[in-house]
Amino acid sequence: MIRANYHTHTVFCDGRDTPEEIVRTALQKGFTHLGFSGHMDPDIHMDLGAYMQEIRRLKELYRDEIDIFAGIELDNLYDPSCAAEAEYVIGSTHFLDVESPVPMSVDNTEEIFARLCHEYFGDDYYRLAKAYYDLEARVYDRLHCTFVGHFDLVTRFNDSMHVLDETDKRYTIPALEAMEYLVSEDVPFEINCGAVNRGRKKELYPNRFLLKKLSEMGGRILLSSDAHQKELLDGGFDTAVETAIQCGFTHVQMLVHDKEGNVCLTERALR
Ligand SMILES: [Zn+2]
Ligand SMILES: [Zn+2]
Repeated sequence: MIRANYHTHTVFCDGRDTPEEIVRTALQKGFTHLGFSGHMDPDIHMDLGAYMQEIRRLKELYRDEIDIFAGIELDNLYDPSCAAEAEYVIGSTHFLDVESPVPMSVDNTEEIFARLCHEYFGDDYYRLAKAYYDLEARVYDRLHCTFVGHFDLVTRFNDSMHVLDETDKRYTIPALEAMEYLVSEDVPFEINCGAVNRGRKKELYPNRFLLKKLSEMGGRILLSSDAHQKELLDGGFDTAVETAIQCGFTHVQMLVHDKEGNVCLTERALR
């Protein structure tokens, strides 16, 4: 069983618990690896210096018990220079490239999502989704991220709003084009359990259809809980493992520190 998570939020951004509370929970759960990934995006960004200092302190303090990583979840439209301080980067698209006076993400509230579509995409959700995937396709070029976060976040409200038919070609073609391009760059994708864990969605990110395609394309995956509270550190992992196997995956990626302390990816069997 995989006992590692690299998508973890704390009180430094929009999470509920302190990093140390999360480390203690990870130890109770038998985790071997724990990556922190505070938000750096146009809406939520941390005091990066204070965050890095605290994660480095914990990394040292618990070095004999667990392998801790100081990462960030960097938005596609945020200043990538902040990535220089991080040990790894989750490349996530939350915001679209529109000239809005206030940042409007695709996953904030239904109301904001609807306003974004109304004001910039003429109420056409397929146009919005295409703009999302055109930007998503460039996430590695822009951020040189370690892995791609919640690939189809644009469907965050689709269970309740039903504005996109996720089998419609107007939706699947731009999504698959973005996926194919990112796979050609050999950047892994996370299977993100965050929305399922919080009861917001039935399907994981990416959904089953996209996960199957990812497996057919030879893409690589990591498991992420996208935890905003310590109890959910491994939330959804059982479902994610089962779904990954059903979609054709046999292995997942894990981040580890090598002997020199460099972060590298390694592969583990799903079973
Ligand atoms: Zn995110
Ligand atoms: Zn996140």
